[in-house]
Amino acid sequence: MKPLIVIDVDGPLNPWSAHPKPDNYRPFDIKVGWWRKLRVWLDPEHGDQLRQLAEETGAELAWATSWMHRANTEIGPRLGLPELKVIEFHDEHGWKYPAVARYAYERPLVWFDDDFGLHPERNREFVHKRRHLTTALIDVDPGTGISAQHLSEARKAFSGNP
Ligand SMILES: [Mg+2]
Repeated sequence: MKPLIVIDVDGPLNPWSAHPKPDNYRPFDIKVGWWRKLRVWLDPEHGDQLRQLAEETGAELAWATSWMHRANTEIGPRLGLPELKVIEFHDEHGWKYPAVARYAYERPLVWFDDDFGLHPERNREFVHKRRHLTTALIDVDPGTGISAQHLSEARKAFSGNP
C-alpha cells in the first residue's frame, strides 16, 4: 500500500511564529477576501524537498490544513507542488485525527504539523489505533518550519528504522 505524507500549511510550511523569518523564506501576500490580504512566508525549496521525499519513498502527498482546498490554489503552486488530495476535517472534537485516520487507513504515515499537542487524548487514541502501523507524527516548530532534520525523520520512519 502506498505510504502517505500529510502536510499542514501554517507551522510546517509557513513558520508563523518565527521573528525574524529565516533567510530561506519569502513573503507572499495572499488574498483572503475582497479586501483582506494575508502574508504567508514560504520556502520555495520545500516543494522540491517534499516531492523528492514522496518519490523516494513511493508515498502520496496530501494536505490536512485549515486552508483546505486553497492549499492547492494558493500554497502548492508557489512551492511547485502539484494538486494534492485535500483531507477535509469537519469534526471539531477530533480535530484532524478522524479524517486523517480514515484517509491513511492502514498505510504507513508521516504527518507534518505544529498542533499535535492541541488534543492530547485524541492524539493518544490515534497513535494507539495505529500501533501496528508506521505512524510518524512529526511535530514541526512554527518558529522554524520543516527542516532537513524533519525530512530525515520522515525517511527513517518509512525505512522501518525510526
Ligand atoms: Mg498548523
